[in-house]
Amino acid sequence: MRNIYLLTALVIISIQTAIAGYLDAFHAEKISNHVYVIHGPLELPNETNEGFMNNPAFIVTDNGVVVIDPGSSVHTGNMLLREIRKVTDMPVIAVFDTHIHGDHWLGNDAIQRSYPDADIYAHHKTISMVDNGEGQNWLDLMHNMTKGATDGTKIVNAQDALKGGEDLSIGGHQFQIIHHGQAHTVTDIMILYKEDSVLFTGDNVTNKRIIRMVDASFKGSIETIEKAKSLQAAIVVPGHGKSGGAELLDNYHTYLSVLYSNVSKYFEEDMSDFEMKPLIHQQLKNYHDWSGYEDELGKHISGAYLEIEAAAF
Ligand SMILES: [Zn+2]
Repeated sequence: MRNIYLLTALVIISIQTAIAGYLDAFHAEKISNHVYVIHGPLELPNETNEGFMNNPAFIVTDNGVVVIDPGSSVHTGNMLLREIRKVTDMPVIAVFDTHIHGDHWLGNDAIQRSYPDADIYAHHKTISMVDNGEGQNWLDLMHNMTKGATDGTKIVNAQDALKGGEDLSIGGHQFQIIHHGQAHTVTDIMILYKEDSVLFTGDNVTNKRIIRMVDASFKGSIETIEKAKSLQAAIVVPGHGKSGGAELLDNYHTYLSVLYSNVSKYFEEDMSDFEMKPLIHQQLKNYHDWSGYEDELGKHISGAYLEIEAAAF
């Protein structure tokens, strides 16, 4: 009889563990006096990871919490709120969405449900693109890639439009907004949180993950990282991958500039994009183990090739 109780207890525990789910395993790491980051997985959205793949972050100011990129769904946003509540009872007073890609901002929904008064900031082109169909496209894409794991998420767009160059005071702390034209997308903002000298790069910089550049300018991305370097932040929070120091900016800058300068050189030598691929692959040895490298290298070479070709005419 006793064994049956024990067995029943074990079954209940294992069912609870199964229900607990993937997002429960993630926790915020404190990276400076006021800043916490949940470093997401490096894989693409799928059924198991529920679309979670970015780095939702929060800053505890004097009067409330500022969120950066609340993630890919209402579920990711709720996971972020759970982590915030472990640190403070103060409300979320502001959110920054770094760019148009839905893995970064669809979690706005969770923030607005709990804190309807929070100001949600984004580049004005993010706001207009979300309104003009990109929001629905991202909701559908996430639904398809995760086989419905992100369902229940509603589109909540930002209302506070930025263009870059703003200095905002939120909760008594200072935030500088940087936009340098088309980089990873036409909608990117980087946020320099001055109190702790932390730079949130969005997908202009990644660490150990090579990302899709279908909406990108390679030249613009390289220039944007140079702008980022000039800010001399002590800590860098990338769009994907672990946070670190200024070396993160150098690492990703090197990937993009080795790729771009070689495509440019071989283009001058009348090589086609598929002929140059093995040569460029040899020169990117430090990135062969980055997640997504094999899937993206050919596409990045083609993208850079088209950009260089367009500039040549
Ligand atoms: Zn992106």
